Amino acid sequence: MHKLPTLKSVKNFDSVAILTSGGDSPGMNPAIRALTRAAFNSGISHVYGINRGYSGLINNDIQKMTSRSVTNIVQRGGTVLKSARCLEFKEPNVRQDAAKILRDRGIEALFVIGGDGSMTGAHLFTEETGIPVIGLPGTIDNDIPGSDDTIGFDTAVNTALEAIDKIRDTAQSHERLFLVEVMGRNSGFIATQVGIACGAEMVVVPEYDFDLRELCLTLAQRRATGQGSSGIIVVAEGKDPGLTNRIAYQLEEQGQNPRICILGHIQRGGSPSGHDRMLASCLGASAVSYLLAGYNDIMVGVNQGSIVDIPLRRVITETKSLNRHLFDITTLLHK
Ligand code: ADP
Repeated sequence: MHKLPTLKSVKNFDSVAILTSGGDSPGMNPAIRALTRAAFNSGISHVYGINRGYSGLINNDIQKMTSRSVTNIVQRGGTVLKSARCLEFKEPNVRQDAAKILRDRGIEALFVIGGDGSMTGAHLFTEETGIPVIGLPGTIDNDIPGSDDTIGFDTAVNTALEAIDKIRDTAQSHERLFLVEVMGRNSGFIATQVGIACGAEMVVVPEYDFDLRELCLTLAQRRATGQGSSGIIVVAEGKDPGLTNRIAYQLEEQGQNPRICILGHIQRGGSPSGHDRMLASCLGASAVSYLLAGYNDIMVGVNQGSIVDIPLRRVITETKSLNRHLFDITTLLHK
């Protein structure tokens, strides 16, 4: 259960807008619902939904929301507002045009749900135009600085686990080694959590070097002690495409015969978990409270169980590191 901030309303807003941007994540819908309902119930008269992230903003693709427009979406994956990548938004003059579109509609503040790229756009937008912006961390990667958790991470981990449990069955029947690739170009948060929870023999993450020879030795020892030759290696996809194939090739050279399973986009979809629905609802409601309390240029996030505000400047300049102790558990428990 999250500890919510106690905030006093000091500002009035008549009209606000919401957008979802960048890679979608399960839980964006409950966040949209929470923002919309909390806004109406806090005395804000108009809530707008901007379609397709910053792309919809610059193209004036904006719709009026009602309390009913967010009925029955709390359990749905994806985002009803759609998401998109919009390179034009990196241009300062385009951001000025976007601000004019909001002002012409009387929209006084913006909520942005998305990953670190979306938070960068949000920070520049408010800094240059003065329109208040509050961000919500929406990404399966859990790689946003300042927040222990992000909307969609828990669901993605559970989706991967469900798949790996099934792979484990066939791996054991045929005494096979499987390389399972999970998402994570720059970070191994998903791989580490999935690896611990599925009992993986090894976890490969972009943050740390891995020792293939040690793995082969472990596999040989397991065979020698009658523990079988099946196993799961969880690999975060990393920056360079084809990493999992390269590891498989190296393993083959060491006499192994691994199979590959790339989980891919299934990790982005699906009904948000109870945890992510709670997180999105608490962050959404708190984001509205922060706006009414006069905060701007912040992201709402979680710190040791409490909902907190983090300056967007900090979010976009710092990096979130993988906890080495947590990662070490992956090797501590596999033998
Ligand atoms: P995510 O938010 O999931 O990290 P991206 O990195 O693709 O996804 O960013 C989503 C969108 O945020 C981009 O398409 C762009 O519109 C906006 N954005 C990203 N980086 C910047 C930037 N440096 N300046 C302005 N806008 C940006």
